[in-house]
Amino acid sequence: MIVVMNPGAKEEEVKKITDKLERMGYGVHLSTGENRTVIGVIGQRREEAAQAMEAMPEVEKVVFITRPFKLAGREFHPNDTVINIGNVSIGGPNLVIMAGPCAIENEEQLMQAAEGIKAGGASILRAGAFKPRTSPYSFQGLEKEGLEFLKEVRAKTGLLIVTEVMDQFTVEQVADCADILQVGARNMQNYFLLRELGKIRKPVLLKRGLSATIEEWLMAAEYILSGGNYEVILCERGIRTFEPYTRNTLDLSAVPLAKQLSHLPVIVDPSHGTGLSGLVPAMSKAALAAGADGLMIEVHPNPQEALSDGPQSLTPEQFQELTKDLKGVALSVGKLI
Ligand code: PEP
Ligand code: MN
Repeated sequence: MIVVMNPGAKEEEVKKITDKLERMGYGVHLSTGENRTVIGVIGQRREEAAQAMEAMPEVEKVVFITRPFKLAGREFHPNDTVINIGNVSIGGPNLVIMAGPCAIENEEQLMQAAEGIKAGGASILRAGAFKPRTSPYSFQGLEKEGLEFLKEVRAKTGLLIVTEVMDQFTVEQVADCADILQVGARNMQNYFLLRELGKIRKPVLLKRGLSATIEEWLMAAEYILSGGNYEVILCERGIRTFEPYTRNTLDLSAVPLAKQLSHLPVIVDPSHGTGLSGLVPAMSKAALAAGADGLMIEVHPNPQEALSDGPQSLTPEQFQELTKDLKGVALSVGKLI
């Protein structure tokens, strides 16, 4: 349920209401708009809470939320969430580009990739130190050593870092070097991990699970939000279908739909979405046209030698070409690049 405060309600009036709700045993989450504060109320016995709130003169109305995702939905938070990290903002008018290799292989490879993506206008470097591979015999990532390389490259280039965290035990370690923590598709419903990420105060990039419905994806976001971490970025990365020519089927209808249902920023990963570098430029443009707030693209200095996901990785030159081409699409959909 949400409690809508009177227009222009003062801070102390809001506090009076949240204190009362907390005394009654409810969880409260605030959404502060330009002239309206909305309080998300989480807990059982909602009729009782509604009656108590309707009796308060500071409250304009009480609305029951019908969707199962309460905090991720637009009813609670009508305006877009914009996540600011340094001078990069995600979910606002600027298109944000995250790019880099699938995995950190060594310091030189990471640095070359970072320089290449920076020259192409990316502001965030993606690269995995912990790799969730389908086969236990495939390269699993450099783990701690990889995180150290990320720190160095971050300091040298000024790029922000997004990197995957695979379990609840390494959240602190990854948060120490990452500006954004990535939850991989295979972990979208790892609820212990999601709960731990709800406790930190750093943005989380939540990839859609391989076979997850939009509602399951938003419910996964809800786990993080309900812990009090309101900075979640949704990432569409393709879903499993019967089509074998592509690695996954990039569900671009998920972009406008997730944006209708939720206030959270939505980005698209056309690399995992297709598995083929030759399809990445077209699907990047399509994602932007569909309303994506950003892109995550795999870029490797030498895709043929990549230890993971070479076939879907662009070279730095191809990436730079693509970002030039994106400008026209960005202009036509009112995004800045
Ligand atoms: C990745 O970003 O390298 C990755 C493993 O992605 P996903 O979880 O979408 O497969
Ligand atoms: Mn990858």
